[in-house]
Amino acid sequence: MSKDLMETTKKSSILRSASNDDDNHDDDHSHPYEYDLAVIGAGPVGVQAAIQAAMLSSSSSVSSLDDPIRKKKRVVLIDAPRASGKLMNEETNEDLSIGGPTGLFSKAIRDTAKRIKVSTLRGMGLREDSVWNEIISSCAELASFNARDIKRQLEYAGVTLVEGYAKFDDSGGTHQLVITNDDDCKISTTTTISTDKILIATGSRPFRPAGIPFDGVRVFDSDSINGLSFLPRSVVITGSGIVAIEYAKIFSNLGCDDVTLLIRDSSPKNALMKIGLDKDIAATLVADLIRSGINIERACEVGEIEVPSSSATAVAKTANNQNFIVPLKIGLKVKGGKIDRPLNKVREIKCDAYVAAVGRIPNTDNLNLEAAGIEVDKYGGISVDSLLRANGAKDRNVYGAGDVLGRPFLASTGVAQGVAAIKNMFPISSTGENNKSAITSNISACAPDDESCEIEEYLLSEAAKCDPTTLTANPFAFPVGVWSSPEASYYGLSTKQAEEMGIEAGEGIALYAECLRGLVFSPNGLLKLVFQKSTGRIVGVHICGEDACELIHYGMEIVKSRRTITDVANSLYSAVTFHEMYRIAAISCMDPKAARKSRGAAGRALAERRRKSSK
Ligand SMILES: Cc1cc2nc3c(=O)[nH]c(=O)nc-3n(C[C@H](O)[C@H](O)[C@H](O)COP(=O)(O)OP(=O)(O)OC[C@H]3O[C@@H](n4cnc5c(N)ncnc54)[C@H](O)[C@@H]3O)c2cc1C
Repeated sequence: MSKDLMETTKKSSILRSASNDDDNHDDDHSHPYEYDLAVIGAGPVGVQAAIQAAMLSSSSSVSSLDDPIRKKKRVVLIDAPRASGKLMNEETNEDLSIGGPTGLFSKAIRDTAKRIKVSTLRGMGLREDSVWNEIISSCAELASFNARDIKRQLEYAGVTLVEGYAKFDDSGGTHQLVITNDDDCKISTTTTISTDKILIATGSRPFRPAGIPFDGVRVFDSDSINGLSFLPRSVVITGSGIVAIEYAKIFSNLGCDDVTLLIRDSSPKNALMKIGLDKDIAATLVADLIRSGINIERACEVGEIEVPSSSATAVAKTANNQNFIVPLKIGLKVKGGKIDRPLNKVREIKCDAYVAAVGRIPNTDNLNLEAAGIEVDKYGGISVDSLLRANGAKDRNVYGAGDVLGRPFLASTGVAQGVAAIKNMFPISSTGENNKSAITSNISACAPDDESCEIEEYLLSEAAKCDPTTLTANPFAFPVGVWSSPEASYYGLSTKQAEEMGIEAGEGIALYAECLRGLVFSPNGLLKLVFQKSTGRIVGVHICGEDACELIHYGMEIVKSRRTITDVANSLYSAVTFHEMYRIAAISCMDPKAARKSRGAAGRALAERRRKSSK
């Protein structure tokens, strides 16, 4: 047995025996398996689902973890750390990816960029490699805190964590999993476990377009970028989704002189709207990219990439003996769009590093799904039914959630699916009452004389035919958070969605620059309320700016509790907080003309301030 697996298995058996000692596990199960649930993959979806299941008592209701007589579900979480890009600390063998591999590095480096001022370090005369070491050790520290905290949470919940690759065995059954640790190890080791239910949450990996010479040194995808080993002065990124715009801003914040975003669409705003963002939120993000000096090349795609022949970062010396990085040469082809260049005309741009962030593919090919009879869709995502059960599995005991199902490849969607899958596999009542609530849980009943109830009726009827793989037929299922810089988030309906549902909707906007906290500390961004004109009920909240991913939760509560613009306009919010924008936006819904004037004045004052500070 390899050292890794031996240690993990030892740890696992210690965890299991500790749990067995207090005799707190669910012994009244009616199955002969070692575990009630095996979750494959410890990304945000797998971790959240495992903890959620472990919190279920034998009566299947969520109970207090401190309750001494509670019988817990036996849950095992299996994770292959090295399947998540390069997020291992090779010196300590610590898995830095647990609980959030695909987006974790970008979040760590985003926060590091906020804390470390590269220009100051350079100004102090620090060498480039020392600046980079400063950045990367700060990222590793953040990731390490996160990894340890997740492991602590799993241990506290009584979830057994096993490191290794899991797959179905060849028997054709769906209650046995083979776990192998053959990763970077000379001797591969195998264990088999048996389980009543299985949740597949193995996530996704980047799509790699043909012809791009990915080397993990100068040319990266959205996972291998985790292994970047120097601070580039110039970066080219292909993509128009959140991963691409996140990295564009990260490199710009890290003091990269030249960041170029290549998009196939002729409008970057349209590209962002395709991932569900409201038009003004998308426009705010694009305006911020442009203001940050990021060059957006529209309607184009990468032709050929010429990588300098020497390995590593190909450092050369200038005439006056200064180090410089020999650039990559990228041939750009025009891709349709309204640009007056002939199609396929190639021009060249140079850069230190290139990142392709052009989509993701579900991780299903290492699971031996064919043997288990589990079906995948044409993109390789697990095909599931309305209860998130994998189609084709003989005993209908296998479920899927998260990126492994395919689009929209968002953590918030995946976690909502994971929680729904757990509710579906362990329903509260034998009638399966919980199955329905897993999809419609955020839609509540309302008084018959409440005119705004038509929204609930519509949603309940839509949810009944809803596609659970995205849960998007129910826009009230969960808030969406995009950890770009500035952040973006939304909950509920956009004006367009409301109108498509036949609701006459209006909207009101507050700029960050209109509230004192925003004006002083973080003036870029806006908060928008969408409301039903006939009742004043708020049906959607959209935010772009500092702390948007936090602010959205108050927005979610006002939508869920059917608050009106009058309620919010009459509420008092603590002075000098971003929450004051809710009141300003509600007032703007009532008097759009005056609001436009106020925003215009705030916008002009901000522009003046920017002009002065740039002098
Ligand atoms: C750069 C970047 C930025 C992002 N930003 C955002 C954002 O701002 N907002 C947002 O909502 N989403 C964002 N995302 C998307 C988000 O990270 C994913 O949607 C989310 O991580 C998916 O979670 P998951 O648990 O389904 O899969 P993953 O996070 O991919 O985790 C899957 C786990 O399964 C393991 N695994 C795979 N195969 C096996 C196997 N056979 N056996 C055992 N383990 C296995 C992997 O090692 C991994 O640990 C971003 C993604 C990237 C790449």
